[in-house]
Amino acid sequence: SPLLEVRGLTASVKETGQQILAGVDLTIREGEIHAIMGKNGSGKSTLTKVLVGHPHYEVTGGTILFKGEDLVDMEPEDKSLAGLFMSFQAPIEIPGVSNFDFLLMAVNARREKCGLPALGPLEFYSVVSPKVDALKMDPKFLDRNVNEGFSGGERKRNEILQLSVIGADLALLDEIDSGLDVDALEDVANAVNGLLTPQNSVLMITHYQRLLDLIKPSYVHIMENGKIIKTGDSSIATQINEGGFKSIALV
Ligand code: ADP
Ligand code: MG
Ligand code: MG
Repeated sequence: SPLLEVRGLTASVKETGQQILAGVDLTIREGEIHAIMGKNGSGKSTLTKVLVGHPHYEVTGGTILFKGEDLVDMEPEDKSLAGLFMSFQAPIEIPGVSNFDFLLMAVNARREKCGLPALGPLEFYSVVSPKVDALKMDPKFLDRNVNEGFSGGERKRNEILQLSVIGADLALLDEIDSGLDVDALEDVANAVNGLLTPQNSVLMITHYQRLLDLIKPSYVHIMENGKIIKTGDSSIATQINEGGFKSIALV
């Protein structure tokens, strides 16, 4: 079965009942890179949040299967242990817990789930340190408390650091290019490309073709009004770059 199979997914804002996702169909197989593009407000971020089970949204219809298992009722922690990754959007700083400790906990939780022995701090340091270097992050970053004073660029790099140490079968990357200069974007793209294997997949959301020049998608989807209205290869991204979303014929 595909890694992710979304059928007729509808979802609303829990508090108001306002429908955002209006019937999303999406199939992602092992080893594929998918990109979702679309105007502001088309529902791209909501789709990724609904996939990971963000508490602000309610699934009102359709199905989400991850590795053949129903994802809708699964706890967010279990989704992550099963190999679905989205950057931890921990909204608060966690006093006394460093980024290092936080990453080590997350890695060991997933290792335990996979039947692997826990890593000790020294062992983990030798794993994480080269990754911090590759992302051109300040090594002091690991000692800082979770989420303490992250800049936009640090947040994006941290997202990819999390992914590269924890690993995932499917990574959901929402606008990893936002707020990054060209050099930073290249570091982040190289890190993502370095993680790709024939087994794992990426779903990335972006407004810009420049990310897709660095991480080559197998499929590009266009989202509008809470639905995927067109799917094609990377030439769609080129077309949008040159003529805007209006240049995409819907059929
Ligand atoms: P995109 O990521 O494509 O820019 P979003 O998924 O963030 O779009 O938002 C889609 C639409 O749903 C927007 O009109 C947005 O204002 C609305 N929306 C998303 N989440 C909420 C929410 N929690 N409460 C109210 N409106 C929301
Ligand atoms: Mg937006
Ligand atoms: Mg968004």
